[in-house]
Amino acid sequence: MKIEEITAKQILQKFNHGNMWFGIDYNMNLYRGCNHGCIYCDSRSSVYGIEDFDRVRVKQDANLLLNQELTTKRRKGIVGIGAMSDSYNPFEKRLKVTQRSLESLRDLGFGVALATKSDLVVRDKEILREISQRSGGIIKLSIISSDDEISRKIEPHVAVSSKRFAAIKELSQAGVFAGVLLTPTLPFITDTEKEVKNIVRMAYESQAKFVYSMYGMTLREGQREYFYEKLAALNPSLVKKYQAVYGDNYVCETPYRQEYEALLNAECQRYGLLTKMSDIIYAYKEKGSGQQLSLF
Ligand code: SF4
Repeated sequence: MKIEEITAKQILQKFNHGNMWFGIDYNMNLYRGCNHGCIYCDSRSSVYGIEDFDRVRVKQDANLLLNQELTTKRRKGIVGIGAMSDSYNPFEKRLKVTQRSLESLRDLGFGVALATKSDLVVRDKEILREISQRSGGIIKLSIISSDDEISRKIEPHVAVSSKRFAAIKELSQAGVFAGVLLTPTLPFITDTEKEVKNIVRMAYESQAKFVYSMYGMTLREGQREYFYEKLAALNPSLVKKYQAVYGDNYVCETPYRQEYEALLNAECQRYGLLTKMSDIIYAYKEKGSGQQLSLF
């Protein structure tokens, strides 16, 4: 399998909303496009202008460029990975572009906040542990259903949910701060009491530190058409329901938002998992500072 290379001027982008999103200071994408096939993927929206989204391309000299950019940064910080493309795509196994980038972050004193749906992330657990201890690190396994059959249908080309829970366990046991990014929540599909309870319980059993949700999904031009086409093949009546409830809305919150949020909070509290963004950021950064968390 050959991968196309594309030229890139820059790898890191400044991110100014870290207090609202996992304490991130910079974002980076080493690849363009993603072939995991999630039917709800926001990154395929035409607003981002990624043509032929399902075809993965790698940025030429990505590791070299990243090293140059990191060494010229006056401020160290947390680098977010996985916003527009999953860095653990099938090419990464051979190319190791993500792995080398993590080594650079470790060696140059940067932290990491990485989101993925692939269990390939466990390959890099030692590097991630070192980053976590030195500068702060958090790994978010994106899991939106506890049911592997559902995950096979809506995320057809990536590890099923049970494998992602297993990845969390392996990372946690290696000393990496890992948990569940429960987003998106698909209205009328995954916004059920059973899903919330199962996911939080399975997160706990996997030694996750947190479960974070945003209680809905986005739908925009390009993304909406793709989602409806794939959803129609699974259940045409659901498409009609979405159209009736959300029309052209960008943010599509579950109609059960209040109940869902209350249940998630209660279940996380029951199992001792974090779920508030500020608590999650504090906990993983504190771990990176080498200090013990204290109640007093
Ligand atoms: S893994 Fe992430 S970037 Fe890739 S298709 Fe799924 S949601 Fe989109």
